[in-house]
Amino acid sequence: MTFDVLTIFPGIFSSPLAESLLKKALDRGLIQVRVRNLRDFTEDRHRTTDDYPYGGGAGMVMKPEPIIRAVEAIKAEEPDAISVLLSPQGERLHQAMAKSLSEHKNYILICGRYEGLDERVRLAAVDREISIGDYILTGGEIPALVFIEAVSRYLPGFLGCGQSVEEDSFSGGLLEYPQYTRPPVFRKMAVPEVLISGNHAEIERWRRRESLRRTLLRRPDLLERAALSEEDLAVIRELESQEGMAGQS
Ligand code: SAH
Repeated sequence: MTFDVLTIFPGIFSSPLAESLLKKALDRGLIQVRVRNLRDFTEDRHRTTDDYPYGGGAGMVMKPEPIIRAVEAIKAEEPDAISVLLSPQGERLHQAMAKSLSEHKNYILICGRYEGLDERVRLAAVDREISIGDYILTGGEIPALVFIEAVSRYLPGFLGCGQSVEEDSFSGGLLEYPQYTRPPVFRKMAVPEVLISGNHAEIERWRRRESLRRTLLRRPDLLERAALSEEDLAVIRELESQEGMAGQS
């Protein structure tokens, strides 16, 4: 999978791509990230990428020419590439979207800065517009890294062996159950007995129940779309009827 990133701050990408699983994926050729400086696509002496907004107002706007030229140059080499504008006005990224995005092989990620970019970029060079959440950041670089990581996790071999994306929160439509590791007791807080029992069927049942409980308490909106069995529905009814459930998490 390839990601061509267009930015005026290429340095932001160095350390996130030089550590841990993203580094391994790059080393093994599972993903390629080509960070391209938008200034290389300017044609003036000052390598200008921004200018004052027409109509006045605060801040600067990114000029259309360098971005559109860059997207066209990359598409000439990778005709299948989908260009994605990271933008708070886009479709909000979620886990199922990350999964379906992982089925395509080439992306161009456009990172905005300042007040955003000239509207003509959207018209001429943007296939999709994606937001990472309802808040405003100063640039599209961190959203681009979020995109790369959320999508790459779905590539076979990205996670260590035995790890599965499918067990994570959101993948099955629910939040994940609580996790524990050694020691069995720390400051009088004990690991739930069932997890030490070795009874795998019981452990599975406990995990499903805790996953439902957590989702019900923290994100009841997810339950409306989750795939739930008859048994799950019975557990939810029981959890809902339990007195004092609120306040636990
Ligand atoms: N004035 C713009 C926001 C500009 S923020 C508006 O109100 O829509 C500057 C840049 O940061 C954006 O162009 C975009 O690339 C990036 N950005 C900020 N918040 C983002 C978010 N939630 N998701 C994705 N990109 C974001």
